Amino acid sequence: MKTINIILLGPPGAGKGTAAKMIAKKYSIPQISTGDIFREAVKKQTELGKRVKTIMEKGELVPDELTISLVKERLAQPDTERGYILDGFPRTVKQADELSKFQSIKAVINFNISEEEIIRRLSGRRVCKNCGAIYHITDYPPKKEGICDKCGGELYQRDDDKIEAIKKRLVVYNEQTAPLIDYYREKGLLYDINMSTPPEKITPENSFMQIEEIFKKLDLV
Ligand code: AMP
Repeated sequence: MKTINIILLGPPGAGKGTAAKMIAKKYSIPQISTGDIFREAVKKQTELGKRVKTIMEKGELVPDELTISLVKERLAQPDTERGYILDGFPRTVKQADELSKFQSIKAVINFNISEEEIIRRLSGRRVCKNCGAIYHITDYPPKKEGICDKCGGELYQRDDDKIEAIKKRLVVYNEQTAPLIDYYREKGLLYDINMSTPPEKITPENSFMQIEEIFKKLDLV
């Protein structure tokens, strides 16, 4: 049986989450986003949530041991039998080393995007307080400023999308996560996709197409 065990690697705001959702839907495999798991725990105020809340607000990384054990548990669930998309994990060399001890990864998709474009995307992002729908002030604006098209809820800017937090997240990415590019390139697992703008805007559909090309080349689908 073919399994699609893949990792989406890239800085915050590169579009990993959106691409992961599209792949998950088309191939009926789960998107495993450690960021989503942590955010949900914070929202529900669980023990895990209490431990990670301030770390996340500061844009820092949750300790490796905690993150690794959480992913181990998640990957042991039966819905991962035909594969999975890891979105936001691994984020350190230690996490990648641990993952390789119990999983065989087929490909790592590396999202290439300029810092300028990341800042533009994240600082323009607005989220509905009520239903969680995502907008962008210029790329995907709501019909009426500050109001969600879908439910009429109020739109707000996430704390970690404010400029200081974005800069901090980029520093953390460059220091702790970017070394994974060479790590996976050396293992022959890295495949690059282009998410930067010129000459045309890269849409979610376009990034999905680039990923599908890689899947076909690797005979994963
Ligand atoms: P994300 O939505 O992927 O940007 O993740 C949001 C936040 O969750 C990050 O800024 C980290 O604080 C935390 N986080 C998510 N994934 C990891 C990971 N693999 N290792 C450590 N911290 C993580």
